[in-house]
Amino acid sequence: MSSLLNQHVLVLNRLWQAVNVCTVRRALTLVFQGHAQVVLDRSDGSFQTFSFSEWRHLSVQEPHPECVGSISFKIRLPRVILLMVYDHLPKKEVKFTRHNIFERDKNTCQYCGGSFDRKDLNLDHVMPRDRGGPTTWENIVCSCIECNTRKANHTPQEAGMHLVRKPKRPKWRPFVQINFTLHQHDSWKHFIDLAYWNVELGDEVR
Ligand SMILES: [Zn+2]
Repeated sequence: MSSLLNQHVLVLNRLWQAVNVCTVRRALTLVFQGHAQVVLDRSDGSFQTFSFSEWRHLSVQEPHPECVGSISFKIRLPRVILLMVYDHLPKKEVKFTRHNIFERDKNTCQYCGGSFDRKDLNLDHVMPRDRGGPTTWENIVCSCIECNTRKANHTPQEAGMHLVRKPKRPKWRPFVQINFTLHQHDSWKHFIDLAYWNVELGDEVR
């Protein structure tokens, strides 16, 4: 029973975005307190949400092999929950780091569009530093060594080069703290896929 309570549940925020993973124990507590509802995928592909009492009722009405509790009180394991309250997860500002720039630019040279190993990429000031170009999200891009050398101390325009994409500050990550090495329950797939496709480009967790 305790191992069942420690299994993982996918947590969705109010926008139905996957934001976290918690234990069954924590999920049931959140649902019991009214902070979350259980999400169940129905066979027709729709999703239904359940309050604690509704979920308990369903657990009795539609017995399921995955239950926790005692003989007198059984409740089905939730696999996905939907937060009802303002999601307590802080919006994480993406730190301005080398790693995150590589991540935003997907290890792709922003001039020729080629993919490279990180060791073969430089960080390039679009407006050169010694011409007043700041070291900011909006002025730093990944560049391969060849493009970097070609661009040298010029603006892209002067060098006859074009940025693949205008660099910008990534927004906070809606998709935080999901450890993909965890076993993923089948019912997570829809939300994980959705998060993958809806996340702003350059902003997703690798
Ligand atoms: Zn290049």
